[in-house]
Amino acid sequence: MEFEQFEEKRTFVVRLETGEEWRQTIEEFADKKEIDAAWYNGLGAVKDAEIYFYDQTEKEYMSIEFDEPFEVAASLGNISWLDKERFAHTHALLTRDDGTTVGGHLNRATVFAGELFIKELDGKISREHDKTTDLDVWSNYIK
Ligand code: ZN
Repeated sequence: MEFEQFEEKRTFVVRLETGEEWRQTIEEFADKKEIDAAWYNGLGAVKDAEIYFYDQTEKEYMSIEFDEPFEVAASLGNISWLDKERFAHTHALLTRDDGTTVGGHLNRATVFAGELFIKELDGKISREHDKTTDLDVWSNYIK
């Protein structure tokens, strides 16, 4: 384990618009507001979704695509830097009209409606490739 301590800075209330792409919109907002480290939570509804499942043996993401409407029962994630760009790491629990759920690493979803709280931290977090997991994990913290 490693850690760094941050203080909270700005809090943003963001309403996503119909047709926007969930993760991309968060990244564009982070660029616009120059957010270098943040966490978010949100809820809403989407028209479709692409979930990634990380196969820990193969060390590869498997894409699962859904072309159906979902309630976003909960979404959470964070903003940090990856390969010199701001990257939004987004997860979601999505529900159908019969109450069944799918969830995981949300790569892409078309927004129907969305409400987010984005909480900025007073520094910058960057990701680097990790040999053990083959994932891009938090590794640099600038205060
Ligand atoms: Zn993830």
